[in-house]
Amino acid sequence: MTPLRSLILAVAGNDTLRRALTATRGTRGVVERFVAGETVADAVTTAARLIDSGLYVTLDYLGEDTGETGQAESTVRTYLALLGRLGEEGLAARAEVSVKLSAVGLLLDEKFALDNARRICAAAERVGTTVTVDMEDHRTTESTLRVLGELRRTWPWVGAVVQSYLRRTEADVAGLAVADSRVRLCKGAYAEPEEFAFTAKHDVDLSYVRCANILLAGDGYPMFATHDPRLIAILGERARWHGRKPGGYEYQMLFGVRPGEQRRLAAEGETVRVYVPFGEQWYGYLVRRLAERPANLAFFLRALASR
Ligand code: FAD
Repeated sequence: MTPLRSLILAVAGNDTLRRALTATRGTRGVVERFVAGETVADAVTTAARLIDSGLYVTLDYLGEDTGETGQAESTVRTYLALLGRLGEEGLAARAEVSVKLSAVGLLLDEKFALDNARRICAAAERVGTTVTVDMEDHRTTESTLRVLGELRRTWPWVGAVVQSYLRRTEADVAGLAVADSRVRLCKGAYAEPEEFAFTAKHDVDLSYVRCANILLAGDGYPMFATHDPRLIAILGERARWHGRKPGGYEYQMLFGVRPGEQRRLAAEGETVRVYVPFGEQWYGYLVRRLAERPANLAFFLRALASR
């Protein structure tokens, strides 16, 4: 991880900075570039627009590290409302949801989070779509995989997420890529200690390709979440080598990041899913995006200066 990225992730936890930025009207343009809006209606409108242009979506109600049962309940209700709307609007065939277990109570109690995640999966099943369980920092990897395993006993289609920066991931993927499974492979977005994670970009990328090969050779449905042009080219070549046709795997990218590339891949017949976050709790999400790319940070600082 670069020093700049570590610094941004470190100062992100500062409460004064958090309050100053969330109260700053000048940040609005930046937020809108990466976040669909604050309400379920905003999320559904954005999803419909992306689906109209030939893309698939996964919707994420922003919020994480919930410390209150009431907050977790409110998150679950938002997901239930969202899934209901996706069904009503006829979008469920192309729109699923992504859920962070810490937003539905993982840090309070694992069983509580599991029960909440079950309610979301049951609602997804009713409207005919799927759920992917986002992966958070390394302290939650074990509990997240345990909850995922429980969910998959009822709903084998519940998507797993693995992070190539974690040293353990190569061993995890083989067990996850079973028949009927869906596995998202990403690099990983948190500041992790060297003991648990590769810190050099090259090592993270090599691990990504090793994990991708395991997924492509396995019986599950691989979901490649990356904007990295080099990796995207390698993934296309590896998919063909493994005899996978477009539709036998998918690419995933974040809302607002490389939209031209999203359209280009879709026009070539690839399945491309856009991860669309929405909600009022955009701060932690936005900081991780800024930390990934200094150009995003410059855009953000310009917006602040011009307010
Ligand atoms: P990077 O190493 O960040 O970038 C590589 C190259 O990609 C850059 O050099 C540049 O050429 C290009 N690029 C990257 N960003 C941009 C940009 N903004 N504009 C133009 N070019 C750019 N992380 C988790 O920890 N848990 C999750 O559950 C999770 N889910 C995700 C779901 C999706 C759909 C996606 C896309 C990402 C998810 N992530 C998740 C985040 C992920 O782990 C990375 O932090 C993030 O995707 C950045 O990594 P990258 O692969 O795009 O490559």
